[in-house]
Amino acid sequence: MDKIIELLTLDDLLIQLTEETGELTKAAAKYNRVARGTNPSPVSLQDARDALVEEIADVNAAAEAVRRKMGITCDEIAEVEDAKIERWWGRIENGI
Ligand SMILES: [Mg+2]
Repeated sequence: MDKIIELLTLDDLLIQLTEETGELTKAAAKYNRVARGTNPSPVSLQDARDALVEEIADVNAAAEAVRRKMGITCDEIAEVEDAKIERWWGRIENGI
């Protein structure tokens, strides 16, 4: 990861992250479609799951590279993530 961050520009990494998030969006939609089974697909549930795992890994790696390139700390991310999860749970608890 260190060499990737050193060699690539922030633009390169942001483009990579954009590409990978698009692929994750597609993989999540495909997994949901296959799992629901109401709109048939030739893709097996296992293949759809494997693709989803791969794209989650790709997004995690690209986001980590951007985080490090920009000097964003893990603590900063964790603080925002905790607040987001708390807000999400609050909406579920309150039904909104
Ligand atoms: Mg990918």
